[in-house]
Amino acid sequence: MVKIGSHVSFSDKGLLNAANEAQTYGSSSFMIYTGAPQNTRRKPIEDLYIPEGKAAMAASGIKVEDIVVHAPYIVNLGSYKEDTFRLAVDFLQEEIRRTNQIGVSNIVLHPGAFTDKDAEYGIARIAEGLNEVLDGTKETNVNIALETMAGKGTEIGRSFEEIAQIIDKVRANDRLTVCMDTCHIHDAGYDIVNDIDGVLHQFDEIVGLNRIAVVHVNDSKNPRGASKDRHAPIGSGWIGYDGISGVVRHELLKDKPFILETPWIGKNDATERPMYELEIAMLSGNTEQRFGGKFLEDVERLHHLFNGQGIVGREYVLQTWELLKSDAKARKADPREPMERLYDILMEHLVFDPQLSEEAVNHRLLAYLAGKEWLNSL
Ligand SMILES: [Zn+2]
Repeated sequence: MVKIGSHVSFSDKGLLNAANEAQTYGSSSFMIYTGAPQNTRRKPIEDLYIPEGKAAMAASGIKVEDIVVHAPYIVNLGSYKEDTFRLAVDFLQEEIRRTNQIGVSNIVLHPGAFTDKDAEYGIARIAEGLNEVLDGTKETNVNIALETMAGKGTEIGRSFEEIAQIIDKVRANDRLTVCMDTCHIHDAGYDIVNDIDGVLHQFDEIVGLNRIAVVHVNDSKNPRGASKDRHAPIGSGWIGYDGISGVVRHELLKDKPFILETPWIGKNDATERPMYELEIAMLSGNTEQRFGGKFLEDVERLHHLFNGQGIVGREYVLQTWELLKSDAKARKADPREPMERLYDILMEHLVFDPQLSEEAVNHRLLAYLAGKEWLNSL
């Protein structure tokens, strides 16, 4: 069985909240930030509902070894500024101790950015920081999972070589693992759509597949090599459902936990909902069990409707992203992304019962975008 889940909220009742939310999506894994990702304020460990959360996880069959913590993305170990670097080192040590107390063995970290310096400086500085962080947390059983990055701005970790160079410079590197992110490596230029075997082979040669502790599964709003890092729901971006499915089902990634960090979808903030439940079901191969036969009939109807309009889902998605990227005028006139455009066409044609929620319609739309082959394969 595929171990898959999503980023879930750790607010309010901490681990209990996270476990309950994960359960509503049918998850077998999940990821948390121990507090807001954009700041370093954290609750005391007693207020994190750890025993209650673990009981809820056990009840839904989620193992603590399959969940991960994500470090806040504001810390920067690559900074040449002493105060920024110091804050990153100190805070990461605290986060690792917290992660250890929860019982989680991997904390995902964006390696860092070199800002006004250069990549060589950044790599050395990140390694220096990691050496200090690891030296100060020897009593824990926590590994740091360096995340593969898209290469936005001056981010380090945009190539497998950069990840390997950091690992080489760290003394206790048996405590370094890797978080591979599909959107990021695609944006960094790796062709996971047409050549996942080649990409994994390359990773194995340069870093080693045994380092991979977790895989972030996200589609991308940008073409391969764009160095952007904007996530899209599975099947609604440039990678596509088949590309993502090829990663999740890959023999070499068997048994790794997969974590979705796909954006919530909705016409406005109040109706925005995550697509996790459907994404998890599709990628675990239990869409019919979870959503029912009527759901699949609805998806079939979408194929008929769009066929009649001369729309082929996958082509429509790629053409719309291309238009939004290359034609500023057209984007200004109509900034709607592919999913929203298709949603509006559906609403215009009154395909479904008006009682059906926006979330439910978007689930059907996303399943439509997985393609006719996917539907026929069920
Ligand atoms: Zn990340």
